[in-house]
Amino acid sequence: MIDRTRPEPKPGVLDIAAYVPGKSKASGGSRLFKLSSNETPLGASHAAIEAYRDNAAALELYPDGGAVALREAIASVHGLNPANLVCGNGSDELLALLANTYLAPGDEAVFTEHAFLVYRIAVLAAGAKPVIVPETDLKADVDTMLSAVTDRTRLVFLANPNNPTGTYLPFDEVRRLHAALPPNVLLVIDAAYAEYVRRNDYESGIELVSTSQNVVMTRTFSKIYGLANLRLGWCYGPDHVIDALNRVRGPFNVTGPAIAAGIAAIRDRDFLENAVAHNEKWLPELTERLTALGLGVTPSVGNFILIHLPDVDGKRAPDADAYLLDRGIVVRRVENYGFPNSLRMSIGTDEANEAVIDALRSFLEKA
Ligand code: PMP
Repeated sequence: MIDRTRPEPKPGVLDIAAYVPGKSKASGGSRLFKLSSNETPLGASHAAIEAYRDNAAALELYPDGGAVALREAIASVHGLNPANLVCGNGSDELLALLANTYLAPGDEAVFTEHAFLVYRIAVLAAGAKPVIVPETDLKADVDTMLSAVTDRTRLVFLANPNNPTGTYLPFDEVRRLHAALPPNVLLVIDAAYAEYVRRNDYESGIELVSTSQNVVMTRTFSKIYGLANLRLGWCYGPDHVIDALNRVRGPFNVTGPAIAAGIAAIRDRDFLENAVAHNEKWLPELTERLTALGLGVTPSVGNFILIHLPDVDGKRAPDADAYLLDRGIVVRRVENYGFPNSLRMSIGTDEANEAVIDALRSFLEKA
């Protein structure tokens, strides 16, 4: 029955469970370790902060709607043509823009069961159908994804590495996925955590985009560059996709302070190397030390890890979450990602990481 007594959202919208961000407060103590949103513990580059501040003098002016200088800076660092980039208000905006541009009611978009939740929201908001396929060992499975592709499929989303699992697909597998997709299906490679990955068989997707007509890659300044608060992401794609996105996006979707800070951030290679080194130290160390406590840890290549709690009364994820919160440690519950008994923690400062290990040890030991 159509309700004509008030405006109704289009079909799909009320099937969306609104995205729940990581908590930013804890109950216990004065210190707070926020490890719930995969933010960097290292802040932002000083050069980026300065560039942001300098922009305060011109808040009355619209930004450059084409973000030309930022696209040029990204292009020069990554060896790309700036004409093939579009910037967005976080990569979240770009994922939604891709869905809005390529999906109509009746169309389908394929992604995996533990994939980043924004894909589902973007697909439903576009009025299309999410087709969610199982993973194997908490990883996207190319054959299962391909078997879900139908005549109605228009988009395939792949987070590589994925959040919240932290797992990745070797690039041979991504190439195999792409090679078997019909040419009218757009493969969206979400490489939000690419800078952190240190594996020989990993690629972010730049070369595949450059040599295809149906692949795009999205990236973000929110993670390793520490600019989450400014909302800045970018998408690299073939001419025809960039052209379509530029028609649909808001004319001033990226702010001037974000453009200025982004340019400074991407040029600060020392900052980036330091952030990679911090992650490289802690990723194996946290994995080993939490595993030694008897916890399950999914091997991650990102700046976060997925921790699996024992299926024992008093020791499950909600209990551990409450225990950590009481000690000023905020991690992420992930039941809405299909992990009712797991927690995701972002890699924090040395002090924060030690605090998590200590707290989880005492949590597991307590009667
Ligand atoms: N993709 C993945 C896989 C993510 O984890 C996130 C951040 N939660 C994003 C995209 C979006 O990041 P942003 O909108 O801040 O660029």
